[in-house]
Amino acid sequence: MNDSKKYGFTTTILHSDRQKPIEHGSLHKPIHTSVAFGYKDARDLAAVFQGRQPGYRYGRQGNPTVTALEDKITKMEDGNATICFATGMAAIAAVVQALLRNGDHVVSSAFLFGNTNSLWQTVNAQGADVSMADATDVAQVEAALTPATRIVFVETIANPRTQVADLARIGRLCRERGILYIVDNTMTSPYLFQPKTVDASLVINALTKSIGGHGNALGGSVTDTGLYDWTRYPNIVDSYKRFAPAQWGVAQIRAKGLRDFGGSLGPEAAHHLAVGAETMALRVGRECVNAMALATMLEADERIAAVHYPGLQSHPQHALATDLFDACGGLFSFELKDGIDCFDYLNRLKLGIPASNLGDTRTLVIPVAHTIFYEMGPERRARMGIAESLIRVSVGIEDTADLLEDFSQALDA
Ligand SMILES: *Cc1c(COP(=O)(O)O)cnc(C)c1O
Repeated sequence: MNDSKKYGFTTTILHSDRQKPIEHGSLHKPIHTSVAFGYKDARDLAAVFQGRQPGYRYGRQGNPTVTALEDKITKMEDGNATICFATGMAAIAAVVQALLRNGDHVVSSAFLFGNTNSLWQTVNAQGADVSMADATDVAQVEAALTPATRIVFVETIANPRTQVADLARIGRLCRERGILYIVDNTMTSPYLFQPKTVDASLVINALTKSIGGHGNALGGSVTDTGLYDWTRYPNIVDSYKRFAPAQWGVAQIRAKGLRDFGGSLGPEAAHHLAVGAETMALRVGRECVNAMALATMLEADERIAAVHYPGLQSHPQHALATDLFDACGGLFSFELKDGIDCFDYLNRLKLGIPASNLGDTRTLVIPVAHTIFYEMGPERRARMGIAESLIRVSVGIEDTADLLEDFSQALDA
């Protein structure tokens, strides 16, 4: 397959590796474990180091198995280029560290994955200034901008309370102001949503979640959509300006993020993630169906105080979500009424497993305030809309009827 025809999402992923020659006609890109790459002519080694010739230098900065995965993600996101990292957090941290300077300002959604929230506190302490804004409303984001704002950062659907960012309007605002717009697409996955369609400059994916999909490998990525004009970004180091402007951002993130900070993805993990990605459409499609069925059932039950899922009409951003996304994903959260202990409820589940991950094939449940949001304390939790009894459910691909029965019997007991 070496034509320029546009195929569907899954066909494209399945046949991606074959667009470049693979040793022995192997149908999977092999796992290249070599750290060093040898050259017959020492001048070629120098040319690769100087960026005059494509090739590999040292495993920390790139690896053929990882490149094959990067190419797949670029296609999924319809982007220009992708850089993979050891984890989703390594990708976010690398982008931020590579692109921010002392005195720069960031506007971040206030509704965030807990570890990203914690990263912003570190960034704040290191000299850049981070403001949190209610990203469900573009006016709040606009009000938070200052002349020093370099980056606006949002999640598509926030983990774990499922607020939906006003993605398209924030995109327009950033484009007008020349601000770098970073969208964490983990909760939707490129199967349900491409942030490029709302003018995102960079797209983050925690590959650990829906893309790998089996909870057996960690990984993260950043994709340059090609929409941002890097000549407007003041912090590009001169040495990367010898490339075409479209490559400035990627060159700096790759060099600083992988070479200097070293959060590189290993080839074995890249292989697991690439194999997992082949079935993303099948898995995510089924997870969406299961999540909708479970959320609907729980919302109708009088023992439940609240269910947060953008697929439900009661969700404050339901219309926005159905406008933006093909479906609303496999994650929802809910609150039990007073009198039902959330630990007792979780312990009565036979299929839902108390565990901290999401986008797995199995259904995973977690009491948010007592685990992943424990460190931030009750006040910050309240500000982020995290109830003390909030249970996050990452819905798997089990048979729908089995899940409905399980979540229902745990209430009855
Ligand atoms: C899990 C997650 C991350 C971090 O990914 P890791 O691979 O666990 O480091 C970032 N953003 C969101 C929205 C996530 O759910």
